[in-house]
Amino acid sequence: MKRLALAPLLLLPMLAQAQQAGPAAELSVDEVRFTVANSEFTLMHEMGHLLISELQLPVLGREEDAADQLGFMGLFLLQQEQHRDDFYAKLMDVADYWRLEWQNAERNGTELPVWDSHALDAQRFYNIACLAYGSDPDRLDWVLEVSGLPVERALYCPEEYAQAAHAVQWFRDHFGRSDKRPARHRIRVIYDTPPGHLPGGTELLEKIRTSGELEAVAAKASEAFDLPRDLSLRMSTCGAPDAWFNRISGELTLCYERIAYFRDLAAELPRLRRVSAPPH
Ligand SMILES: [Zn+2]
Repeated sequence: MKRLALAPLLLLPMLAQAQQAGPAAELSVDEVRFTVANSEFTLMHEMGHLLISELQLPVLGREEDAADQLGFMGLFLLQQEQHRDDFYAKLMDVADYWRLEWQNAERNGTELPVWDSHALDAQRFYNIACLAYGSDPDRLDWVLEVSGLPVERALYCPEEYAQAAHAVQWFRDHFGRSDKRPARHRIRVIYDTPPGHLPGGTELLEKIRTSGELEAVAAKASEAFDLPRDLSLRMSTCGAPDAWFNRISGELTLCYERIAYFRDLAAELPRLRRVSAPPH
């Protein structure tokens, strides 16, 4: 099995170690990257909800779309700092998660939740692919090929990306903390016991905890913004592969089942990419 050579941003230590022992032993490099990228995106999307709510950010359009954009830009900015070789492949992993959900629902004849506050899975796929392509269209021609993003939309993707980047920069300029003193309020990380029925659940908990990456993200947000109260980030058992921010309790929940779900879904990547090989 190929070993991962580069330092991970988030959750990768636990997954890389899980490759050596435990139920995740079969994961390929692509599967690990897909699982990590989507776990990170989920966390960043929910952090987007947290910041919108706690800092009372003005939102035009749907909050779910804004959280996706904040999630994408958060991931983009964090990853850019790392200068990782597989940066764009990770962004496409995030887009491809929505493509898998879209295609699976189509195959199963699941009715489209057109009433939902989220964009449809197919739209979230194209939205993420568009932002990724728009971030560097000269270098990322291949994104159009592997995503099938039509030229009618692609033409405007650089503008879409520039608009999202500008909004995030504005938001950091206006809401960022310049105070050098310790933050008044912080995001505390809490770990619940993972579900007994989840394969490798205990190992998952230990690997996430020892990686210290959730604490790093929580600390970064606490230092970067003047939060109005203490908040928490909880790894929990939810009974579903979910994640959410509760604006009453001020708690962001990330479910063990969601990470396991990404891990399982990653096995479907070869089928998805048989027609459009991902670049490296
Ligand atoms: Zn959301």
